[in-house]
Amino acid sequence: MAITPLMPVYPRCDVRPVRGEGPYLYGENGEKYLDFAAGIAVNLLGHGHPHLTKKIQEQAATLMHVSNLYGSPQGEAFAQRLVDLTFADTVFFTNSGAEAVECAIKTARRYHHAKGNAHKNALITFSNAFHGRTMATISATNQEKLRDGFAPLLPGFKVVEFDNLEAALAAIDDNTAGFLVEPVQGEGGIRPASKEFIAGLRKACDEKDLMLVFDEVQCGVARTGTLYAYEQYGIAPDILASAKGIGGGFPLGACLATEKAAAGMVIGTHGSTYGGNPLAMAAGQAVFDIVANEEFLGQVRQTGERLRSALEQMIPNHDHLFESVRGMGLILGIKMKSDSRAFVNWLRSRGLLTVAAGDNVMRVLPPLNIDETHVREFVERLSAAAADYEVPAAAA
Ligand SMILES: *Cc1c(COP(=O)(O)O)cnc(C)c1O
Repeated sequence: MAITPLMPVYPRCDVRPVRGEGPYLYGENGEKYLDFAAGIAVNLLGHGHPHLTKKIQEQAATLMHVSNLYGSPQGEAFAQRLVDLTFADTVFFTNSGAEAVECAIKTARRYHHAKGNAHKNALITFSNAFHGRTMATISATNQEKLRDGFAPLLPGFKVVEFDNLEAALAAIDDNTAGFLVEPVQGEGGIRPASKEFIAGLRKACDEKDLMLVFDEVQCGVARTGTLYAYEQYGIAPDILASAKGIGGGFPLGACLATEKAAAGMVIGTHGSTYGGNPLAMAAGQAVFDIVANEEFLGQVRQTGERLRSALEQMIPNHDHLFESVRGMGLILGIKMKSDSRAFVNWLRSRGLLTVAAGDNVMRVLPPLNIDETHVREFVERLSAAAADYEVPAAAA
């Protein structure tokens, strides 16, 4: 048999972690890595965080899962916390980011359906977006590598250029349900949308009664230095998908919505077996215990600025490799002049973990609770690795 027991859909590298501690990961043979990938923006408290671990252990021993047929004191409490802290009036819990986006898409469609406008079922989405790997979420992007071989895709998505307000407004027609957008594109290359673009989408949604749906699966939960990125745009979406960091490593997602936007999500319209189970709620609550306060968020902004300026200062020393730094808070990207994937591999061989992204960007996504010493360690080792790096001949 040639196929591996793990379905071979990932080009897995030779890092084989078995243990983690704070921002460090340890491999099978004791290799130590500084983890500035954090499970792709998931482990926002690092590895083995005592509060998160303790809460999960306690809840696992108390009650792990019950059906959503029963009342959920745990779900009600965490939903109430999200409602108190955000624009939202109501929350649906999922097990992943793609499921949170799926719920967001269904909520947007059902809003118009409930108003007797079932034909308003198409979302305008944006180039190089990433919304997940389900059929609906790959249909919502123009990235061919995600879609190849999976036709027929789901109708009801129209892709226009990211951050181009004119193109977005021109795409509105009688079937438009709203916009689905990452305020800071993650996989697409750490690209924050402009304030004008987001404000323009909001205005169009207000004027035409459309749904503004934010995918904050990667940029949400304190990563940009506010609890959610939308706060920094001075507007609120109607619907928001959250996941990745929200469970700190435990599989958890959430679809947040206003009361108005959720008008169609009545009994029987949606569901999930695991979604919002007591164990997941304990993980989410533990993460929010740590991150959902101004002191922690201020710390993220400060660490983000420190890391960003250290990276910017390093660039002139390696200007054959690096072009610029982009992003917000601790969702940062270094735009590279040579292949970012090859450089990420090189860093890995030197014990530094980062993640490649589109647009030839290297993502820097550390745990949010790192301190100055970790920032310094990362930048010093990155700079040393850059100095020793030989740009592959094939790269431009
Ligand atoms: C990771 C990601 C998703 C998908 O999340 P999964 O948990 O992998 O399903 C969706 N949207 C964005 C912006 C993401 O970064």
